[in-house]
Amino acid sequence: MNQKQKEALKAQLLETRKEILSRLQAKLQTDDQIGQHWSDPRDVEDWASISLTEELFRLLSRTELQELQQIDEALRRMKEGTYGTCRRCGNPIPYARLEMIPWTDLCHVCSRELEQHTFTETP
Ligand SMILES: [Zn+2]
Repeated sequence: MNQKQKEALKAQLLETRKEILSRLQAKLQTDDQIGQHWSDPRDVEDWASISLTEELFRLLSRTELQELQQIDEALRRMKEGTYGTCRRCGNPIPYARLEMIPWTDLCHVCSRELEQHTFTETP
């Protein structure tokens, strides 16, 4: 993965984060009390710096929450330099896979194995 590809994935992660937060903002408009604490972000980087309070977390759906957490994790790994490496086997995750799921931390082999694992272990 070169620098340009990494930048593209980061932009994609930030864009998705922005989308989720935009939905959250729409919900907030019906709630004045929380709405007042929301400063209107202008660009993607602003959206990236919004940290979520417990109140905001409660307004998110389970899926949105999971997505946000995965995105923030991925952004953290980018900063640390571990992004794009499978957390299970340590092999690099192919760029094509990252393009599809930019927040993944598993290569397709491990991801499939883990899925099967959960399947067989679920009673
Ligand atoms: Zn792997």
